[in-house]
Amino acid sequence: MQDIRQLSLEELTNYFLEMGEKRFRAKQVYEWLWQKSARSFAEMTNLSKNLRTHLETHFLLRPIEIDKVQHSSDGTIKTRFRLYDGYLIESVLIPVPSEKRFTVCVSSQVGCSLTCSFCATGRMKRERNLDAGEIYDQVVMVNQQSLEKFGHPLTNIVYMGMGEPLLAYKNVLKSVEHLTSPEGLNMSPRRITVSTAGIAKMIKKLADDKVRFNLALSLHAADDTKRNEIMPINEQNNLETLMEALIYFHEHTGNRITYEYIAFNNFNDNIGDAKRLAKLCRSFPVKINIIEYNAIDDAPFSKSEEDRLDIFARYLSDHGVNVTVRRSRGRDIDAACGQLANKDA
Ligand code: SF4
Repeated sequence: MQDIRQLSLEELTNYFLEMGEKRFRAKQVYEWLWQKSARSFAEMTNLSKNLRTHLETHFLLRPIEIDKVQHSSDGTIKTRFRLYDGYLIESVLIPVPSEKRFTVCVSSQVGCSLTCSFCATGRMKRERNLDAGEIYDQVVMVNQQSLEKFGHPLTNIVYMGMGEPLLAYKNVLKSVEHLTSPEGLNMSPRRITVSTAGIAKMIKKLADDKVRFNLALSLHAADDTKRNEIMPINEQNNLETLMEALIYFHEHTGNRITYEYIAFNNFNDNIGDAKRLAKLCRSFPVKINIIEYNAIDDAPFSKSEEDRLDIFARYLSDHGVNVTVRRSRGRDIDAACGQLANKDA
């Protein structure tokens, strides 16, 4: 049986017309599936009983289920979801009530194939890509949490959870389509950021596909030797190739580009690194988020000392780079950057 959420509105309409149903019925079902996030066909109360039974016997509807919720002392909420086939994934709600900013960080794959040395997800085998509905559901359910707990809907969506979004390319783009469509959540694509470890070919493809969302590159090192050491993907996608792809992305879309840069003590946080990083900011407008590292078990790194980080960030801002240091959130519940691994503790 086919998952009904794999069908576009057009495909659903054709299906309904072929079975002798009115065109508007397809629109109704589509709205139940996306705008109203129905979790079963039984909920679709404006359809006849017969039609609901027909759909039940011909299609699958497989929403994700909440498995576990953990609250950090700083307000961050991590939710573990169970997928229809038993796999677990995680999403994180990062609230900043003072700025009315409520961000969800969503996963795009079960596990990850890219084995970045500092990341807990990279130690899990990549099992499969999430489908568009499973990505969409994370946003809907965390939006609900945000409304219940903070009385405010989500304002931002970042694809920075488990997995490499550009390796789940089709499904990620489809999920964005639903999130931004009036028949879905109607969110602005400017509020969405897709983050990649750096796959040059796919960054160019985003530009060719004229996406309207923002792009973040998990840079984490400003020279190839260091980057190869922590991110094996850099061996086939070195900095020169990545910069060329980002220039292409900027020229073709004009969308915002951010570098994510986790500061590792004595590894990538000296003045030489800052100089090289500043150089990578000259070809297009870019903002750098420096992120405090959260050590995971057996990782060879520790987080940058406060003084080193201050000097590093000051060098960048003194040289005209738009830089923000992001203190870590949700560390006590393993919800911070690089910590997502379906742990129970
Ligand atoms: S940092 Fe991202 S790309 Fe790298 S292993 Fe972790 S989830 Fe995968």
